[in-house]
Amino acid sequence: MSVKVRDSLSGGLVEVGESGRVGIYVCGPTVYNHIHIGNVRGHLFWDVAVRYMRSCGYRVKFVWNITDIDDKIINRANQEGVSWKEIVRRYTDSFHERLRLLGIGMPDVEPRATEHIPEMISLIQELIRRGHAYPAPNGDVYYAVETFPRYGALSKQRLEEMKVTEKGQTGYKRNPLDFTLWKASKPGEPSWESPWGPGRPGWHIECSAMVEKHLPEGADIHGGGSDIRFPHHENELAQSCGAHPERTFVRAWAHHGMVRMAEEKMAKSVGNVVDAKEATLRHGRDAIRMWLLQSHYSQPIDYSDEILEEKRRSCERLLRLYREISRSETSSPLSDRLAEELRERFDAAMREDFNTPEAIAALFDAAGGAGREVSSRPASAGEFASLKEAMREILGVLGFEAGGERISEVDGVRIRHTGEPPETVLRRVARREHSRRRREWPEADRLREELLREGWAIEDTASGPVLSRR
Ligand SMILES: [Zn+2]
Repeated sequence: MSVKVRDSLSGGLVEVGESGRVGIYVCGPTVYNHIHIGNVRGHLFWDVAVRYMRSCGYRVKFVWNITDIDDKIINRANQEGVSWKEIVRRYTDSFHERLRLLGIGMPDVEPRATEHIPEMISLIQELIRRGHAYPAPNGDVYYAVETFPRYGALSKQRLEEMKVTEKGQTGYKRNPLDFTLWKASKPGEPSWESPWGPGRPGWHIECSAMVEKHLPEGADIHGGGSDIRFPHHENELAQSCGAHPERTFVRAWAHHGMVRMAEEKMAKSVGNVVDAKEATLRHGRDAIRMWLLQSHYSQPIDYSDEILEEKRRSCERLLRLYREISRSETSSPLSDRLAEELRERFDAAMREDFNTPEAIAALFDAAGGAGREVSSRPASAGEFASLKEAMREILGVLGFEAGGERISEVDGVRIRHTGEPPETVLRRVARREHSRRRREWPEADRLREELLREGWAIEDTASGPVLSRR
């Protein structure tokens, strides 16, 4: 069985995962500021999509990058009077903190642009060799867009309609639309040696190099916001397919819609941003999840305090229904039927381009069915074990905190977790904790790796291990 994803390039549904393996690459943040609630959408959505595919048994390799060199980072460092590396460290930590607050899992690999300079240089050399790129006398290297006949296919534009997006024309470009692959550095700026002199990579070449490095068979899905479809993704496509026309670069391009505030795109350049941390502390992580998942990822979505408040209430309603049946130990025929319908609807919705609003509607319907039975016959509250189990699994895949954090005491170790991890997993967490206490690090690391491969992450805190679904 495969999952269908709407491909922005062809417009059609593309099947991925037929081989049982799925590689996903999503463009990550440029770390020069705190991420806002609009930046979170892609990470939250893809985390859910990955959890879903893993729950179906797919072997997923999930990659998002960190852009850790960019004009914005250098400018910010100059403004604050600190090194660019300090800016990168500060805002990478800030990004990760916000993901944790929102319960968003980490990808399998989070490559950084500056760790892939040799790969970028060889990709640029290949583009020059094939006549797609040319070095300029000032030390820059540009991509010649007219040499790639499909340029514009992804953003559905013809060359003559395109807007020039790169600032600061140098006078060396053959066509003003040609974009920078390598940028010569000014004195005092961070730089790397290259065949064209000291400089740094352009933003677009970073992702091409990192996709090729970490997903050598091509990305089954390449995600990112609809705002970077042009020029960023258009340029990635021109670079990777220009350098390696014989390889598959991306099977499905999936673009998520923008978060809007008062009908305008939320963006640092517009100045209408809400820090992801502030929004999470104000509304709670489940409300934010409900808000984002109750819209299809491909559509734009509006943010306001009123909307988030409404989502918080609807989330509470769902979780209240769930808690009502959460002490069930037996399953009535009604419970079995609701559970089966829920699983089928959830699966059908998610397989068809990750239709999370339909998946959540299925949850509400199942919970509502149980709720009606319980209000007419209160004793039935204990007869929904099968539905409880189905809801627990699905709430977990969607990343809701559901019943909140719990503590299990296993072999003398207090383990904090959400949901209900299997006993065998908890036992291994406890065993690892004992290894740590005895300072048997190799064994502790081995157990951590083992659990990680099975989809469980452990965070060591002063009050003991915290276990979560990654
Ligand atoms: Zn990218």
